[in-house]
Amino acid sequence: MTLVHPELNPQAVARTYELDRRHVFHSWSAQAEITPMVITRAEGSYIWDGEGNRLLDFSSQLVNTNIGHQHPYVVEAIADQARTLATVAPQHANDQRSEAARLICERAPGELNRVFFTNGGADANEHAVRMARLTTGRPKVLSRYRSYHGGTQTAINLTGDPRRWPNDEGTSGVVHFFGPYLYRSHFDATTEEEECRRALAHLEQVIELEGPQTIAAILLEAVPGTAGIMPPPPGYLAGVRALCDQYGIVFIVDEVMTGFGRTGAWFVCDDEGVVPDLLTFAKGVNSGYVPLGGVVISDRIAEHFAHRPYPGGLTYSGHPLACAAAVAAITVMERDGIIDNARRIGTDVFGPELVRLAERHPSVGEVRGRGVFWAIELVTDQHTRRPVAPTGGSSPVMAEAVRASKELGLLPFTNSGRIHLVPPCTITESEAREGLHIIDQVLSRVDTLCG
Ligand code: PLP
Repeated sequence: MTLVHPELNPQAVARTYELDRRHVFHSWSAQAEITPMVITRAEGSYIWDGEGNRLLDFSSQLVNTNIGHQHPYVVEAIADQARTLATVAPQHANDQRSEAARLICERAPGELNRVFFTNGGADANEHAVRMARLTTGRPKVLSRYRSYHGGTQTAINLTGDPRRWPNDEGTSGVVHFFGPYLYRSHFDATTEEEECRRALAHLEQVIELEGPQTIAAILLEAVPGTAGIMPPPPGYLAGVRALCDQYGIVFIVDEVMTGFGRTGAWFVCDDEGVVPDLLTFAKGVNSGYVPLGGVVISDRIAEHFAHRPYPGGLTYSGHPLACAAAVAAITVMERDGIIDNARRIGTDVFGPELVRLAERHPSVGEVRGRGVFWAIELVTDQHTRRPVAPTGGSSPVMAEAVRASKELGLLPFTNSGRIHLVPPCTITESEAREGLHIIDQVLSRVDTLCG
């Protein structure tokens, strides 16, 4: 059988689209209202659509292709592993799984020395919560509003955005609190320092009112991602760590989106000098070339299960193709200085250039981020800070921002009233500037619509 690349064959593209609409049930969508873009090819920072248009991928798909598309070293490692041993059950040991676990533990902070592998981020959070409940014997978990922890049952209940609402039935033991977000401070703070202090005081109050003896864990994204890329003020994560120590609560940090280079570091925790009890990861660990996630576990929690079976597992835990991809991706990130590149692009290009864009465009309320992890928060009025779209919703302005971006050659990541700039960590300076040039033009259109 001859395989014709769909890019070269409009009929094949049409068939892909038609079969998708007839048989594929999509995530988070009203099935009759969507028009998915057919992607036929990808390389480095670019993808190509079914009409042959090249788009700069400023979304990294779902913020996962940290090493860019089709990295030859990683693609080859997966192909090699498929020829050697395509699958192996989790109860056996396997060279790729052992090696991936070592590489991850060596990069995780502190005494986080064991990995429980999952298929992605949501199930990593499910298992982290289960581990915390089993080790403490307590039922509740605290997580913040404006967060995303995944689409499975416990993970979506822990999520602090409107995607939780239709899934809330049957929730028990999840309590949400306000985290730091100076631009829309819940604490009437005007400085980072004030926001940090008041957010920690609020969290301590929630702990006391819920009853510390009922709280198994606090789960936090190191930097809330989908909910708005809000780097915590200095000292916040360390402050939560201290509260967990004081009240005997397990501290779970979700680094599913932030881990493996996105912020210009292996992990945000490491950068901030904070060691959680459990750290969850997925996405950037192997850039999503094969589904993989996991929980990195402290010695203290691992010890709890030394002579007590852990009641949980997955058929594909530590799948050899996914682990081979992780070993190759981590090796390449180190060898090619990809994390340093992400940090430098953030410091030298995105940081200063986005400040300039914010000064020029009245629709920009705030820009914030680090590494290759930035958000532009759009407002109808800089004084009232009214968002251009409601939390979790869309608006004609945002629809136009997406349409204009694609027309100008950029695939954006948008959420509520924000444009997120989340390209691969491998992005070059000239590609980053090309993307900013397009965003500049998109913002001009947004200004007109908001003005
Ligand atoms: N946690 C965070 C911070 C995420 O951003 C995501 C996905 O975007 C998840 C968890 C869920 O990961 P997955 O979609 O792999 O289940």
